[in-house]
Amino acid sequence: MTKYVYDFSEGNKDMKDLLGGKGANLAEMTNMGLPVPPGFTITTEACLAFLVGGPMPEMQQEAGVHLQALQEAMGKQLGDPEDPLLVSVRSGAKFSMPGMMDTVLNLGLNDVSVEGLAEQTEGDTRFARDAYRRFIQMFGKIVMDVPADAFEHALDDAKEKKGPNAQDTDLDSDDLAGLIERFKSIYREHTKEDFPQDPKEQLQLAIEAVFKSWNGKRARDYRRQNKISDDLGTAVNIVAMVFGNRGDDSGTGVAFTRDPSNGERAPYGDYLPNAQGEDVVAGIRNTLKLAELERLDPKSYGELLEVMDTLERHYHDMCDIEFTIEKGKLWILQTRVGKRTAFAEWVMAYDMLDEGLIDEDTALLRVDANRLEELFKRRVAEDAKRREDPIAAGLNASPGAAIGAVVFTADEAERWAKDDGAKVILVRRETTPDDYHGMIASQGILTSAGGTNSHAAVVARGEGIPAVCGAGQVRIDFEARAFTANGTVVREGDMITIDGFDGHVYVGEQPLEESVLEKARVGDARARTEKIWLAFERLMGVADARRRLRVRANADTPEQSSNARERGAEGIGLCRTEHMFLGPERVAAVQQMIFAETPEEEQVAYDALLPLQRGDFVGIFKAMDGLPVTVRLLDPPLHEFLPDLTSLSVEVAVGRERGEDVDEQEKILAKVRQLHEANPMLGLRGVRLGIFKPGLYAMQVRSIIEAACEVRFSGGDPMVEIMIPLVATAPELTQMRAELEPVAREILDREGVQLSHLEWGTMIELPRAAVTAGEIARSADFFSFGTNDLTQTAFGFSRDDIGKFVGLYEERKLVPANPFVTIDVPGVGRLMRIASDEGREANPALHVGICGEHGGDPASVRFCDDLGLDYVSCSPFRIETARLSAAQAVVGAFASASA
Ligand code: PEP
Ligand code: MG
Repeated sequence: MTKYVYDFSEGNKDMKDLLGGKGANLAEMTNMGLPVPPGFTITTEACLAFLVGGPMPEMQQEAGVHLQALQEAMGKQLGDPEDPLLVSVRSGAKFSMPGMMDTVLNLGLNDVSVEGLAEQTEGDTRFARDAYRRFIQMFGKIVMDVPADAFEHALDDAKEKKGPNAQDTDLDSDDLAGLIERFKSIYREHTKEDFPQDPKEQLQLAIEAVFKSWNGKRARDYRRQNKISDDLGTAVNIVAMVFGNRGDDSGTGVAFTRDPSNGERAPYGDYLPNAQGEDVVAGIRNTLKLAELERLDPKSYGELLEVMDTLERHYHDMCDIEFTIEKGKLWILQTRVGKRTAFAEWVMAYDMLDEGLIDEDTALLRVDANRLEELFKRRVAEDAKRREDPIAAGLNASPGAAIGAVVFTADEAERWAKDDGAKVILVRRETTPDDYHGMIASQGILTSAGGTNSHAAVVARGEGIPAVCGAGQVRIDFEARAFTANGTVVREGDMITIDGFDGHVYVGEQPLEESVLEKARVGDARARTEKIWLAFERLMGVADARRRLRVRANADTPEQSSNARERGAEGIGLCRTEHMFLGPERVAAVQQMIFAETPEEEQVAYDALLPLQRGDFVGIFKAMDGLPVTVRLLDPPLHEFLPDLTSLSVEVAVGRERGEDVDEQEKILAKVRQLHEANPMLGLRGVRLGIFKPGLYAMQVRSIIEAACEVRFSGGDPMVEIMIPLVATAPELTQMRAELEPVAREILDREGVQLSHLEWGTMIELPRAAVTAGEIARSADFFSFGTNDLTQTAFGFSRDDIGKFVGLYEERKLVPANPFVTIDVPGVGRLMRIASDEGREANPALHVGICGEHGGDPASVRFCDDLGLDYVSCSPFRIETARLSAAQAVVGAFASASA
């Protein structure tokens, strides 16, 4: 028979699955001999069985036996009119879930036992009645869903009658008797039943309410947000009551063994004299700092410090504790490994390592790779976030906060920023490569469409610019030069603040906080003496020593490359060359290439582009001297370098109407129409471009190799990897190599240069490529997984439009997570495994990496380690995240305690 109920003495801290976090830790503390009130836990299995099958007589019977034992231990009976046992009923899932049902206190009181309680507490009728009214209030609210306001208003009325500024504590025994009657009638009004007088019925209802709360909306929302499984269930803890509201020698508080906000090693917490636990949480009265307890009750304070010390040494981690002092006696009601800020977790891990409390591997697992990049970014100050309501919310596409004046076109963004020195936020429906110049001139980017892998998001992350994408409430009216969001009108030039951490958009300039780590990273001497920097340096050192995966960067410019190298990048895994085709001078040449009617005309365009690209590559090879640089030949469809079809059609039509000469525009329009594609993502792009315009890739290879020669001549060691994108068949790669390798060889021979490293490879970013990787690998020195396109083509989800429905997909569990953020292991991951295994089998010298956005996502990095890839490549600002994740993949599972 399944055992559904465990006494505290029967459990331990490792039984969280069954007893929930609270129950497991209460059991642990009981067995450590700490002063925990007696009690028992009903298991998560009971909860799950109840949710499926309804009432469970066998569990009730078992709970009855444990209740009997509790009564014996306390020498009191539940509902005894003379001397009632009171209990608290507390929910407690495996992971702490603050959004869930919490606690019902004082259960067991009724109209009769309240008098018995008064007698047992030296005739303290006021205390007993206060306990009863609290019980009705909590039971009504939590178990029966009576609106909390109804009770609060009645309480306020009672206080008002006592006089201005009256507190709860000013209500006397008679006032409370009146309030009890009032509360009972509120209860009756809302539930159509009398307040239950039978304590066993009270207990049964409370237990079932806790079970049901597992499926409540708040709990479900919290779980989705925090990626907690719905299948765990919650346990219920029944604990003998102790009272912190029995006078000035009583009280209740919350203590942390270290400061959860900055990690400092000093006891931290709140204390509220003469109060019950919920008063602290509800903020009804101002709490005292924990340290003041030393003055009020030095004995209990000393004991508490001792308990804190014992717990820290026992759990090898920072613990938070709920405690109550009843008439000078300290009781510990709960402990758990305490939540902490991203900042504090680094400081604590560093200190604890230093103190010998934990070892290096444990320290590595104490810091959350998912939150690491937060530490480098400016953020909207907490008090501003509390005060201000956002006008819109989108996807947190690129972290950091930014303030700027709203502009609606890339040209204006550039002009305002460059000419007027203004700080701007570029607001677009979505962005295209044409907007690049305006994007990099902006403080932040806001788009109303597009997902976390849209053009705007990818560029923003690459450049380290904060971005909010897919904010659907933002409706842009380009004519009016304004946007509206939930009724607020924001005009061009108005200041807004965007928060790329949570996707919120605010009007006006919100105060921002600078990051100490970023200051230290760029060399600020003072910041470098701060503990957070010392912690970061030390733990990253440990991470680098432990990881197996190499970490490269996706970087397209010399500046990005140097930045990435400073952050620890060991090469470039993806240099996208498309931006090298932008800028007025280059676009003219690109258009000339597109319009060329003869090979000679085309060659003129290539000749114009070649020196410009060569210059870019020289800069990148120098920045990455001695480290491999994977250059990807041009990938996007050519129409991206031409005007938009619709705008150009309108322009031509209007011009013609006005009798203007539109011959030239019409020629362009004809070409734009010719190149127009219904599905550009599946169109003439990637290697298809190379096949369609053979001179294009040859020109790129020439500029790469000439640049490498130039760097070699100046004493450098360029390590070149040339990558052909979007290959689907082995012959595509074989033919390209056959055309391009001689181009490279000819230059090297002519210049008399030998490169230490020159490789040819391809991206694996189409399902067909993945499943025929064995064949493709015979013509490749390396593979790099383009998981953005691989995800797009495996799911058939457009990477630019996923934002429209991914939320609903996650909510309905149609996908476990956004597959553009975290690799979809069963589908895309399986394709990767096939490609990696079969590619290596066919070509044992093949090296394999990843350069899709997933290369900087901790869970995906772990998967890449498991696949045995050689490296991951990610945006420069995620290099540290990838280094840490790669180490965590080796060391073990991250144990999140983060707030
Ligand atoms: C990819 O598809 O994963 C990739 C890295 O290429 P891009 O994002 O440029 O298409
Ligand atoms: Mg791609």
